[in-house]
Amino acid sequence: MTHAYDYDLFVIGAGSGGVRASRIAASHGAKVGVAEEYRVGGTCVIRGCVPKKLFVYASSFGEEFEDAEGFGWTVGERSFSWEKLIANKDKEIDRLNGIYIRNLQNSGVEIIQSRAVLKDAHTLHLVAEDRYVTADKILIATGGTPYLPADVPGIEHAISSNEAFHLPSLPKRGIVVGGGYIAVEFAGIFHGLGVETILLYRGEKILRGFDEDLRDGLSEELLRKGLDLRVRSDIVSIEKQGETLIVTLTDGSKIETGFVMYATGRAPNVEGLGLEALGIALTDNGAIAVDPYSQTNVPNVYAVGDVTDRAALTPIAIREGQAFAETVFNNNPIAVDHSIIATAVFSQPELGTVGLPEHEARSKYGEVDIYKTSFRAMKHTMTGRQEKTFMKLVVDAKSQRVLGVHLMGPSSGEIIQAVGIAVTMGATKTQFDQTVAVHPTASEELVTLKQKWVPPAS
Ligand code: FAD
Ligand code: NDP
Repeated sequence: MTHAYDYDLFVIGAGSGGVRASRIAASHGAKVGVAEEYRVGGTCVIRGCVPKKLFVYASSFGEEFEDAEGFGWTVGERSFSWEKLIANKDKEIDRLNGIYIRNLQNSGVEIIQSRAVLKDAHTLHLVAEDRYVTADKILIATGGTPYLPADVPGIEHAISSNEAFHLPSLPKRGIVVGGGYIAVEFAGIFHGLGVETILLYRGEKILRGFDEDLRDGLSEELLRKGLDLRVRSDIVSIEKQGETLIVTLTDGSKIETGFVMYATGRAPNVEGLGLEALGIALTDNGAIAVDPYSQTNVPNVYAVGDVTDRAALTPIAIREGQAFAETVFNNNPIAVDHSIIATAVFSQPELGTVGLPEHEARSKYGEVDIYKTSFRAMKHTMTGRQEKTFMKLVVDAKSQRVLGVHLMGPSSGEIIQAVGIAVTMGATKTQFDQTVAVHPTASEELVTLKQKWVPPAS
């Protein structure tokens, strides 16, 4: 490696992608510096996946206490402390933050606590220290930032997921806007913690892009739980009166609420990075345009993770970071395959999905065989809960390859990870059938589905 520059690699952003890229590049002998303007660990660890999942656990206990009674338990008086949850969550996040810092340091990566801005293709300005450093290669791994529609009067009174992790107290009522991952996850969290929650979605059905059966199934279950899901609805304005927010909806109705949380997407974090000066090309939706090896149009500048908006998920950012470092610092070119991605929505009930939804499979493959089942999980035969578990296989009629698996029910995230291996390997329906069932489980349905689904005669 040449050391004509201060660093062989300088990484902007110590989140999922940046941390992985830094450590792998350093392990191949590169001199690496990483700048982080907020907290090492990035969105996932500090204010995303991890604290979100801790909140999901917290919010599920209410139903667990109720369900316990069906099994003979008497559960005494219950109370919940938001303050205690936040304090314990913060302690865990601090612990993880420390581990991320140590892992970087132990890999020989220099951490600089500062915002970094590009000055030219090899120079960065470290804002907090007001100094300049140079690097042979630069990796932009700045992630995304919550997008809130600026044209809604009173939008400044709304919060995003960032603030939801540190609400000073838990109001009695809340509104969540959006119909994507974050909206359905947080609506479930607040509802489970006892907040009267309204989930407002502008479209016909939440979770656009997911398999229709999952969209329908989850909508039904949310309503069954008493979550106030309103579709074809949006906010016109927000007014603050003391501690209360008065929200006017598109139908003219007004709602008094303690908070409004927008979960209306995330924008690639590119503002003020100095990209224009370098002429770094962006995609139509404002993400950094990269080739399959994460290289931008400026040859020594690369980008990975949410800022490239290929699939805004932590394991993808990590893979892209690893592939970049292998390609550039280990002479081992790797292009990440984004074609099959297993993912979970930590809604309540949880969703797990891998491969193509039915509508996409039909348009890509023509004829597909559908196998699906909906049933009450064994546990709920004793609890009386009517919640449904749902499982669906989408199979290419010609090759019998399983193109997609879509699940709703307890542990769907865990199940889909394992099923994802089979789908990624190109397993066929026959191979699913050849797999011995694990009994009694819900997921045994995946290997015992015999009847092709036939649409009801209209
Ligand atoms: P990030 O992790 O966002 O890291 C970017 C880092 O760059 C940040 O730390 C930021 O402070 C820093 N930075 C930005 N600009 C600069 C600059 N100029 N100088 C210095 N530092 C800078 N994904 C999942 O797979 N599963 C989940 O369950 C899940 N849950 C989520 C829940 C929420 C509420 C949110 C918001 C996201 C969730 N995600 C989840 C998505 C996941 O967090 C992201 O896909 C992932 O963090 C992207 O990694 P990244 O490295 O691209 O960016
Ligand atoms: P999404 O892109 O998933 O969803 C955004 C939602 O907001 C959509 O329902 C969209 O509606 C709606 N919307 C967009 N603009 C407006 C507007 N102006 N007014 C009203 N509604 C609007 O984004 P999220 O913020 O939920 O999450 C960002 C990404 O983070 C996800 O896509 C996912 O990749 C990742 N993530 C992953 C998680 C996981 O793996 N479990 C959890 C959380 C986040 P429409 O459909 O009509 O466009």
